[in-house]
Amino acid sequence: MKAGLLKIAQTGKANFRFTCNQNLILADIDEKDKPEIEHILKEYGILDYTNGASALRKNSVACVALNTCSLALAEAQRYLPSLVTKIEPILEKYGLQEEDITIRMTGCPNGCGRSPNAEIGFVGTAYGKYNLHIGGDRLGMRLNTKYKENLGEEEILATLDELFGIYVQKRLAEETFGDFSYRYLHTLN
Ligand code: SF4
Repeated sequence: MKAGLLKIAQTGKANFRFTCNQNLILADIDEKDKPEIEHILKEYGILDYTNGASALRKNSVACVALNTCSLALAEAQRYLPSLVTKIEPILEKYGLQEEDITIRMTGCPNGCGRSPNAEIGFVGTAYGKYNLHIGGDRLGMRLNTKYKENLGEEEILATLDELFGIYVQKRLAEETFGDFSYRYLHTLN
């Protein structure tokens, strides 16, 4: 992917805009140059990858964490993509694969990847362990709440499986996962 983006940069025919949600926009491309840029995107599999990515993956954000950040207690950007791969079949099981659920992971509580205002937020506590936070809203206007502590991968997947199951049974019409889990958390307290 990086090789393809480098090739596009070398054409000098697109500007690169990195967004706060860790997306990349190729901007200011002349109409006449679009076929060339699209050809490069196809040649390097970038278009296929982007078009085939799940809604959850498109809405995922992670901080750099290990091995770049000296404050990191756990992995984030190197681990979240593989965790998303394991969450996707669970979403499909419940018919939730088109839901734009925001998921974010940080390697420590400092929250550089904005895990506190995701619908599903992971905060690293030790290598391979995360606090799971739920109940943030989709637009990032409401902070989430810690739901479970120090979960390993198996426990994360089992907990999300249970939560998604309750969500499909009890959600209100058009209710997002974040709004549902906020309401669900308040029924527990
Ligand atoms: S959230 Fe923690 S681990 Fe991630 S970049 Fe910030 S300080 Fe580093």
